[in-house]
Amino acid sequence: MSTPLDFSYETRPARVVFRPGASVSATPGEAARLGLRRVLVVCGSRGEATARAVADALGDVCAGLHAEARMHVPVEVADRAVEVAREIGADGCVAVGGGSAIGLGKAIALRTGLPLIAVPSTYSGSEMTPVWGLTEHGAKRTGRDAAVQPRSVVYDPELTLTLPVPLSVTSGINALAHAAEALYAPDASPLVSLMAEEGVRAMAGALPQVAAAPDDLDARSRALYAAWLCGACLGATTMGLHHKLCHVLGGTFGLPHAETHTVVLPYALAYNASAAPEAITALSRALETDDVPHALRALALGLGAPRSLAELGLKEPDLTVAAVQAAAQSYPNPREVTANGVLGLLTAAYEGWEPRSDTV
Ligand code: NAD
Repeated sequence: MSTPLDFSYETRPARVVFRPGASVSATPGEAARLGLRRVLVVCGSRGEATARAVADALGDVCAGLHAEARMHVPVEVADRAVEVAREIGADGCVAVGGGSAIGLGKAIALRTGLPLIAVPSTYSGSEMTPVWGLTEHGAKRTGRDAAVQPRSVVYDPELTLTLPVPLSVTSGINALAHAAEALYAPDASPLVSLMAEEGVRAMAGALPQVAAAPDDLDARSRALYAAWLCGACLGATTMGLHHKLCHVLGGTFGLPHAETHTVVLPYALAYNASAAPEAITALSRALETDDVPHALRALALGLGAPRSLAELGLKEPDLTVAAVQAAAQSYPNPREVTANGVLGLLTAAYEGWEPRSDTV
């Protein structure tokens, strides 16, 4: 018997421009549309040359370039960036780079209310969400606030040509995780589910091509297109156990963001599979498989991704601590989350065992 449709869907006002070269050719027009005259461009130290090209294209509209973004937005880094934005009298911010640079732009938007334009260079999806994060005393706080959602997102696949293959693969699977959990989110809706399924299909198709030919602009375009869809799913829904677990592993144990998502995802889906049959059916269609956790792990390993949490530096005694932490928090998940259940999942991911619903 099928269940009658029952959902809410809210669109958020964000403009998306997607084209090769758009970071330089479209960002000035996006700033003009928002009426901006003095923007602060923010980026990480490694992304400075790319951000400089965007700043040059903005001409007089660029009032400063601040290349101090760092992973997980330490609060002192955010404080300094806000100070700079105020000192130069910025009326807007342009964040160029991965989730870390966009995270810094969001921190500025959160504190000052300045409009944000995002020019992403990874597949993290942060550019499509109203979620911010700040790290203080080793703990990362996150929240949702419409003020941090970029008003305009400029997708330029040319920026991703330099993204190393290992990071392209893990960042791509990080994106895929957003779509996977959106499919069983309590606030899922038919449009989000369509985007999620297509996002997974497009990313799973593009990643092997990106890995085989990293400078193929067409493959890069399709991976970035998938990242857009997956990011939109992340922005529209509430994530479950997988994202919470990765948050704990990154926040408390310092594990790298995209790699951790890549290792954990097959195990989290194996854990949730019995309680989320419709999501698994959609993922099976997108991945053309009848064993979703196995197919995801095979995709990642086939492209050289890390195999286990042990490989990422987690220690065995950390497993229990992480399981207790992940089970103690409250978030929606299709299957009940118990410390024992999460410990089984984490142990399998730590060892790098084949993910199976009956073992996690
Ligand atoms: P990142 O931004 O830290 O980038 C990873 C590394 O790749 C950095 O060294 C960076 O300099 C480099 N890099 C980025 N783009 C490159 C390119 N095109 N070519 C070469 N090198 C490049 O990592 P990320 O995975 O994009 O983002 C992770 C961060 O974003 C985490 O803090 C995560 O919590 C946050 N995030 C937030 C949201 C949200 O909705 N708020 C969503 C996803 C991720």
